[in-house]
Amino acid sequence: MSDPTRPKGPKIIAVANQKGGVGKTTTTINVAAALVEEGKRVLIVDIDPQGNASTGLGVEAEQRDKTTYDLLLDEAPLSEIIQETEIDGLLIAPATTDLSSADIEMVSNEKRSFLLHDALRQPEIDRYRLEFILIDCPPSLNLLTVNAMVAAHSVLVPLQSEFFALEGLSQLMLTIRDLRQTANPELRIEGVVMTMSDKRNNLAQQVESDARAYLGDLVFRTVIPRNVRVSEAPSFAMPVLDYDPLSKGAQAYRALAREMLGIMTPETA
Ligand code: ADP
Ligand code: MG
Repeated sequence: MSDPTRPKGPKIIAVANQKGGVGKTTTTINVAAALVEEGKRVLIVDIDPQGNASTGLGVEAEQRDKTTYDLLLDEAPLSEIIQETEIDGLLIAPATTDLSSADIEMVSNEKRSFLLHDALRQPEIDRYRLEFILIDCPPSLNLLTVNAMVAAHSVLVPLQSEFFALEGLSQLMLTIRDLRQTANPELRIEGVVMTMSDKRNNLAQQVESDARAYLGDLVFRTVIPRNVRVSEAPSFAMPVLDYDPLSKGAQAYRALAREMLGIMTPETA
């Protein structure tokens, strides 16, 4: 799914779905970790005021001095916001609850939808030699998520197989369509990834096959299974790829990253 027309610089992917608990943060952390395993340098930009991606990678609240709040409001240089993680090649711009008020402070700015776009295109971003930036969005289609989708080249949509999943998805797709007609004509859909899939649940399997029927090739072949190791990993401040490298969850996220990179593995070929 590479795009030869894309300008140089890191590929920016917004991980978005306005529903909470569908696997955005888990997908952000583990796709990032899998891209790092493939030798890429990756920055995670946490723009959820809950800061789960920051916590899940071991950046404690007291270590979050300068955050994406400062990034959006242009109140600190990137070098003060971006932190290294325990994983070589994986960086993070952390978030705190401050961000919940950024939305209101941003509204009066006439460039309000472009704040993250502009922040991530400052020349000093080059010094990090990034190949990917993954933006972990809040569970809402608010101004923060709009900023992510205006900054991004593409949107990666985690979809949990449950009854109302597709309904929420059409709202998200309309937002993407609106942005393509206005602020970000180049915005693409990276793909929809089915998360927390349970092969024994008939309803979930039905939602999955409906998603494929409606969305066709937009749905990744790789499916992320429900796997307890995935849910345990954040409390050890690690991606599941490091917490339990051979778990089903870790293997699925590796396959997803490879599918995104266009590398075929037996599971996806
Ligand atoms: P979101 O960021 O969309 O709110 P999360 O990534 O935080 O969603 O996931 C919601 C919850 O589900 C978390 O407790 C997470 O650990 C758990 N979870 C996510 N993916 C899986 C999975 N594949 N297997 C088991 N639990 C998962
Ligand atoms: Mg989250």
